Amino acid sequence: MRSLPRILIVEDEPAIAELIAVNLRHNGFQPIWAMDGETAQKELDDVLPDVILLDWMLPKESGLSLAKKWRTDKRSQAIPILMLTARGDEVDRVAGLDAGADDYIVKPFSTKELLARIRAVLRRRSPEQSAGRIQMGQLLLDADTHRVSFQEQPLKLGPTEFKLLQYFMTHKERVHSRGQLLDRVWGDHVFIEERTVDVHVKRLREALGGAGNMVETVRGAGYRFTDMTQATQTKQPADLAGS
Ligand code: CA
Repeated sequence: MRSLPRILIVEDEPAIAELIAVNLRHNGFQPIWAMDGETAQKELDDVLPDVILLDWMLPKESGLSLAKKWRTDKRSQAIPILMLTARGDEVDRVAGLDAGADDYIVKPFSTKELLARIRAVLRRRSPEQSAGRIQMGQLLLDADTHRVSFQEQPLKLGPTEFKLLQYFMTHKERVHSRGQLLDRVWGDHVFIEERTVDVHVKRLREALGGAGNMVETVRGAGYRFTDMTQATQTKQPADLAGS
């Protein structure tokens, strides 16, 4: 039997942690509670969870700082992080996403919503960025042969656009800030301006032709790569709005 998905809850308020844990347990997850960053780190060093629920306001090290740390650590960088925050304003949300959180949920939240978000990050969890073929709808990328096609028509992409597309296709449906894209696609980017990202995104859109609208601009936040066929079925206009 497959083991239950492990959810690490990093939350200093026992009542909230307990409520989340009970709900997770009832819904087929295995919750693990850590009340601060230090305890959470021990859990991570021990067994990696499938998802981290990370409270923003924690004693000692903040959730934001922990998210940044875990994102830069090779071992934990692929684990989806869902930030729990009482702060609803846009600046903080963007800061959370910039720190590497995959999503956030504003307190107080319904457990139903929390479960839906957890399932969503688990679904979107990126496959390892291995060589091979990645397909999204009719868009096909073959990392071995460096070929891209849409509706069976080959597309011509520059090397940077190819890397960018490969990154988007393996990390779809989440918002990437320009800074994150520079980090993950360009790597060492000390001398590259964030505007460079926009230039390459524009070129990528043009090169993709009919699939160009898969690259969405998320105002004030960055870019998101969306499967168009999926987007029409499960559109979530309130995703980044409201608190
Ligand atoms: Ca707290």
